[in-house]
Amino acid sequence: MNNSPTLNLTHSFRFAVSTRVRRVLEKALEGREIDCQDALTLFEARGQDLLALMVVADELRREQVGERVTFVQTRNINFTNVCYTGCEFCAFARHRNQPGAYTFELEEVVEQAKEAWAWGCTEVCMQGGLNPLLGGDIYVELVRAIKSVLPQIHIHAFSPFEIQYASQLQRRPVEDILWELKEAGLGSIPGTAAEILVPEVRQILTKNKLSTEAWVEIIKTAHRVGLPSSATIMYGHVDHPRHWAEHLALIRDIQRETGGFTEFVPLGFIYQNTQLYAKGLARPGPTGMESVKMHAVARLMLGRNIPNIQVSWVKMGLQMAQMCLNAGANDFGGTLHNERISRMAGATTGQYVSPAEFERLILDMGRIPAERTTTYDILHEGPRYYNPFQPQTMPLDGSQHQARADIVLAP
Ligand code: SF4
Repeated sequence: MNNSPTLNLTHSFRFAVSTRVRRVLEKALEGREIDCQDALTLFEARGQDLLALMVVADELRREQVGERVTFVQTRNINFTNVCYTGCEFCAFARHRNQPGAYTFELEEVVEQAKEAWAWGCTEVCMQGGLNPLLGGDIYVELVRAIKSVLPQIHIHAFSPFEIQYASQLQRRPVEDILWELKEAGLGSIPGTAAEILVPEVRQILTKNKLSTEAWVEIIKTAHRVGLPSSATIMYGHVDHPRHWAEHLALIRDIQRETGGFTEFVPLGFIYQNTQLYAKGLARPGPTGMESVKMHAVARLMLGRNIPNIQVSWVKMGLQMAQMCLNAGANDFGGTLHNERISRMAGATTGQYVSPAEFERLILDMGRIPAERTTTYDILHEGPRYYNPFQPQTMPLDGSQHQARADIVLAP
């Protein structure tokens, strides 16, 4: 009998796990590379095979990043939803005269950032539609305006598609745009607009959007100028697991070259209000098992190069997010005050999760809550907002917003 706490596949799963899945899991535990064919094998796992995948992903998570589950206090500022790109999966965009179209003034964006800082946010995350009325300078103007009053806040903003748009409008190279944004105070960029970086999928999802090559080039350029980014995948629509495997392998290749990804974030497709689903082209998002497998396989394929695997609670709900945090993921993402993009697509999981609620859910998993910055510096470890001994006294909604004593606003 083996009493070692170390996972021993030959003992624990000898009889239950299929030979082909066991072969791939043992490769991962030995630190060998998981290739696309291996990933496909894992994406097909069911029953005991799937449970074994979750256990191995959780073990590698423990080895690679320990028992902390991190989160960041952030506010989303989606400064305009006016956009004519016409992505079939998007329910956020409006033409300028359509009901529900909006664009915030610069001053409104700054006010929202000031509110976020006063609430305790260390980050604002800004993305918007490609609004032709705003011009190519809007991105640097937004960064300068916020930084002039909140020099300490981290600005995580502008997808590679927005960067490409600024470059086209200004007829300047992408690298110039990125340097200008960095010098203005931009801290990092979201690796959104990736969807799935396989041309045959992008052709259906978003033929007017930037190409795979352009996304890769802009991300590599951002990393080169010193702007880190997240990496994302949007899955559960017209895609197939072989596309997921290709996407993960490409993300890994980029990371090996640049080291600029801070985390990998799987984003399940929210289908309810999208043209893609209404036209019968897509399935209704990933299943729970697909989401678990996506996070687990990401841990196996990417964990050595990108240690942080983030759950998107806004896409899959808090309970599923907890499951994925037990299957390879280690980051709960952001509090996301005012998230609009998923909500307009039909997500019902809310616009905000308080730090107290994150801590309650993390403690429930037997893990250690830790508040982090955008770039994964730990600000605080252990419960700070939630008292497990007096749960009834801890507000879990937004009512615990409190003025920061340390806020120093520039004039
Ligand atoms: S996903 Fe972005 S670029 Fe595409 S239509 Fe929506 S807002 Fe526009």
